[in-house]
Amino acid sequence: MEDTLIIGTVALDTIETPFGRVERALGGSATYASFAASFFSKPALVSVIGHDFPKEYIKLLKGRGISLEGVKIEDKTFHWEGFYEYDMNEAKTRKTELNSLENFKVKVPERHKSIKYIFLANIDPEQQHETLRQMRKPELVVLDTMNFWISSKKDQLIEVIKKADILLLNDGEARQLFGTSSLVKAANGALKLGPNAVIIKKGEHGALMFTKNKHFSAPGYPLENIKDPTGCGDSFGGAFIGYLAKTKDLSEQNFRKAVVYGSVVASHNAEEFGPDRLKKLSMSDIEKRYKEFQDIREF
Ligand code: AMP
Repeated sequence: MEDTLIIGTVALDTIETPFGRVERALGGSATYASFAASFFSKPALVSVIGHDFPKEYIKLLKGRGISLEGVKIEDKTFHWEGFYEYDMNEAKTRKTELNSLENFKVKVPERHKSIKYIFLANIDPEQQHETLRQMRKPELVVLDTMNFWISSKKDQLIEVIKKADILLLNDGEARQLFGTSSLVKAANGALKLGPNAVIIKKGEHGALMFTKNKHFSAPGYPLENIKDPTGCGDSFGGAFIGYLAKTKDLSEQNFRKAVVYGSVVASHNAEEFGPDRLKKLSMSDIEKRYKEFQDIREF
């Protein structure tokens, strides 16, 4: 039975990094998030794709045990085109073609409305809000977004932040959203809006988690080969909520473990283009790197 609801984009991505280029590869925030969550829990995906979406990608997602019952098929698939320079911490967008996403009306399947763990992955904040309205009694709502929505729908985004338990942002987005260069001030600004925890992802430099009285810093994993960081933020979020859905422990201590599992899966994701690394990843790879993370921060 599905235990993690994930709404976000399912995309065809054209990506260029200093190490290569792929066209119309499987991408999207909900794709990476549900792939990553599927190592720990059973995700139900809510999104929209077009008639041009390759069947082999559907097979791949279903093969991970991800429910696609909430995925509509309309028009043309959302297409994102982006590139990275040598500092691969920030994606630069060349093109965002919303296509079927533009008129997407969220409809959570009846049997998924009682799911307790919800990940509002990066998508239009109005669609994130509508998803929450359709859910019966969530126990944990994790929210992610990106600069595109901060620029175009800030007010709507703030309304969703007020309903979230945990907010995920990368450092650039945190500064942009709260108009400050201090990540501590940005985190305090976010906590004042309602969430119990704010996690600020700093790409290859790790992640910070701020709660009301504490903060936690997870190291970055010293990756030797980074090919394509697309989807790292979404993989982080997916593994984070997947681990919480599996353990059903919402203590700050367990959030810390979830942050490390998120970092582990995200660091693996950057090793190959698109979701290629996640396709081959195993639970033993994940546990091995989790132990390395424990070693890194022991002193
Ligand atoms: P990230 O984890 O931040 O690297 O997210 C990468 C994914 O975000 C890509 O696979 C894109 O398809 C997707 N994406 C790009 N722009 C948007 C957008 N405006 N809304 C939702 N998803 C997006």
